[in-house]
Amino acid sequence: MFEDIPVDVSPMYEGERIRSANMFVELAGPKSMGAELVQVEENVEDGKIEVIGPELDAMNQGDVHPFGVLIEIQGEHLEKELEGVIERRTHEISNYVKGFMHLNQRDAIWCRVSNEALEAGFKLEHLGKTLAILFKEEFPLIESIAISILTEPAKVEEFVLKAQEEYQKRDSRARELSDEDVDVFYGCVMCQSFAPTHVCVVTPDRTALCGAINWFDCRAAAKMDPEGPIFEVEKGDLLDDVKGEYTNVNSVVTEKSQGTVERVFLHSVFEYPHTSCGCFEAVAFYIPELDGIGIVDRDFRGETPLGIPFSAMAGQCSGGKQVEGFTGLSLEYMRSPKFLQADGGFERIVWLPKEIKDSLADYIPEDVRDKISTEEDGSTIKEIRTFLEEKGHPILERIKTTSSEVPEEEVTVEEETPEEFSEMEGVPMAPVAYAPELTVPSSGGVKIIFKNAKVYAEKVIIKKK
Ligand code: SF4
Ligand SMILES: [Zn+2]
Repeated sequence: MFEDIPVDVSPMYEGERIRSANMFVELAGPKSMGAELVQVEENVEDGKIEVIGPELDAMNQGDVHPFGVLIEIQGEHLEKELEGVIERRTHEISNYVKGFMHLNQRDAIWCRVSNEALEAGFKLEHLGKTLAILFKEEFPLIESIAISILTEPAKVEEFVLKAQEEYQKRDSRARELSDEDVDVFYGCVMCQSFAPTHVCVVTPDRTALCGAINWFDCRAAAKMDPEGPIFEVEKGDLLDDVKGEYTNVNSVVTEKSQGTVERVFLHSVFEYPHTSCGCFEAVAFYIPELDGIGIVDRDFRGETPLGIPFSAMAGQCSGGKQVEGFTGLSLEYMRSPKFLQADGGFERIVWLPKEIKDSLADYIPEDVRDKISTEEDGSTIKEIRTFLEEKGHPILERIKTTSSEVPEEEVTVEEETPEEFSEMEGVPMAPVAYAPELTVPSSGGVKIIFKNAKVYAEKVIIKKK
């Protein structure tokens, strides 16, 4: 099937990481721009693969290029609603190509090509051919497929804007519904390949944490392939309408997480928050000193008020774990009226990156909008507290009235991608620990377990209040 492709193609390469030492070029990612988009169209010329802009052999070692992937599909039974779900599979499928690495989704994609792949004669055209073959194999509803790969900067820029408009259309459609309006939610276990206990529960109010799949997308996917990774979840009885807890959601999550996660609160970071795989767009994290919640997104490069950047925080709460005080979420979920409603919604948010705050301006209640700090107002607890006091943030009432007692917590650190992120940021690192399983005992109710982890650190800070 892949005779024309000069590198191996197999699911066994899915976990392949391409480090900078072994990288020929980087495509899209934080230093450039890019997007991927699936569109259901009429008159798609089956098998047409186009590369618009420089091919790999016209690029130089270490270059970073803009990168767009447009996948046009046609089929009698293909519905527009399937676009989001089919698009989400690009991540998995393109990682089957040995020597090609794909991270994230939508306009957050970040790819690399290895030196070995280039030496073997691999071109972007081959990536297009592979995607065309595998998409048709995975989705028999696709009758014709054409793939355009863009590397020409002006074309990619135009394409990213078009893709963002399409994402926006998909997202806004889901805003018309609420959790109460439907009898079924959906589950997704696509990320169990690297986060074995992770189960996404997708509801009208809580789009998937990867930001790429909403309730409508799931409905179409479950209808198309009832045995697939996206399935219907009957809500069952409502146990708590504020926290968002349902009997049957708990049962399904228990079953699909192999008994690891028994309860889920859809709209809270406390007690039983939604598990996090690793591809979340942002993380909500509890700040005990302020009894408030901060939000940090994947694109934010600085340190959070917890004294660690996004990458380190992602390492603490990803891999399918349920860690009280943290939950991965999509930016779209922050537009939902149920956004962390059990915790106080935006009234409980004390810090978030300015870019996110600006993009959500219409969704943050007016009376609290100017009272939430960003990195421009402070990044230490002291600076943030001063800002909150100056602005009269509603959290001050809580700090006054609640005790500062912090529950004991267990933090498990498993290898995911933070090492990759740290390396990509260009910080020189040396491994400080390696062990198949290592438990670091410490007093005060904190236990740290490393499983199959190589730990690289520039600085390690463990705080217990
Ligand atoms: S993050 Fe959730 S919804 Fe998105 S692909 Fe992974 S499991 Fe599915
Ligand atoms: Zn995921």
